[in-house]
Amino acid sequence: GSVALPSTLSWMMERKHRMNILITGGAGFIGANLCRFLLEQHKAERVIAVDSFHSYYDPAIKRKRMALLEKLPGFCLVETDILDTAAMSQLMEKEKPDAIIHLAAIPGVRGSLDDPLGYVDVDVKGTVQMLELARKYGIARIVAASSSSVYGERAVDRSFCESEPDLNPISPYAASKAAAELFCRTYTQLYGMHVTALRFFTVYGPGQRPDMAISKFVKSIMEDKPITVFDLQSVRDYTYVDDIVRGIWAAVQQANGWQVYNLGSGHPVSLLELVRLLEQTTGKSAHMQRQGAQPGDVSGTWANTEQARERLGWSAEVSLPDGLRRYVEWWLRQ
Ligand code: NAD
Repeated sequence: GSVALPSTLSWMMERKHRMNILITGGAGFIGANLCRFLLEQHKAERVIAVDSFHSYYDPAIKRKRMALLEKLPGFCLVETDILDTAAMSQLMEKEKPDAIIHLAAIPGVRGSLDDPLGYVDVDVKGTVQMLELARKYGIARIVAASSSSVYGERAVDRSFCESEPDLNPISPYAASKAAAELFCRTYTQLYGMHVTALRFFTVYGPGQRPDMAISKFVKSIMEDKPITVFDLQSVRDYTYVDDIVRGIWAAVQQANGWQVYNLGSGHPVSLLELVRLLEQTTGKSAHMQRQGAQPGDVSGTWANTEQARERLGWSAEVSLPDGLRRYVEWWLRQ
């Protein structure tokens, strides 16, 4: 059956004092930053992080993030796999969250070339699972993490717009994210649910995943070890995690049928520029070991941010030099 559709305003008034938000992938890099934001900024009264502590990277890092969050009142961790229908149904029944923020996924382009089926299981089936649960338990709004990688390989002579009809994913990860977006859209059509997909552009900041370039580079540069660089001319639109978290929250509030937004800084930089900026930030020089472009990696990403600005009232605020400085400061405290 279909679910009731409260308008954004009445929904907010009704929920103002008892917002209960469920975050899948809550122990992840973006998820943990989001949980902290929602509780510290009093956006939510209760935050339920659901996570399976997947071993894509060291689960001890995820446990450490959770140990810090568990000190915050209103925080609750549920360790389960989102594909476990019985456990997830029980959780929905008990918590009846006001909104679901679906971040759980196996991330990363390169891993997906070795294990495409594993990515389909979590990134596609996991999304359908969350849509089904939302439908069954009448949770009218979902915000789901998508990725800039859905745009795929294309000329980077202009920014990528959400209305672009031909996505050209070139890795199983990107294809899984694009497929997940399609399911989100289908559910809004079929059941009148509110689902917003957010295409994050290369997110960095405190707690960043250890497999990502900035976190690998900073670690190696600080330890005077060489860094492996692929295509120095490739460009990425790096986006600070605090900006992403604010964008997610804006999307939860603006739910209205099917929507898709880029969350990116709108200022792409080349890999070489990134390395130079890191040298300036750390005050050390980087020893680069070059390798060619990797299969699955696109030559560039560049977010068009007009839609997010106009409809979500969101734009990125943290510049790359500022964000890198904050990241390095955080790294030094670890
Ligand atoms: P992350 O790996 O740190 O977080 C994902 C979390 O999901 C992990 O804690 C993992 O244990 C959990 N998870 C995986 N499979 C699960 C399952 N079956 N059940 C329950 N939990 C499960 O990654 P992240 O960088 O925080 O990314 C969060 C989301 O944002 C992902 O959907 C990712 O695809 C998307 N995204 C991230 C970036 C980026 O630059 N970090 C860019 C674009 C999109």
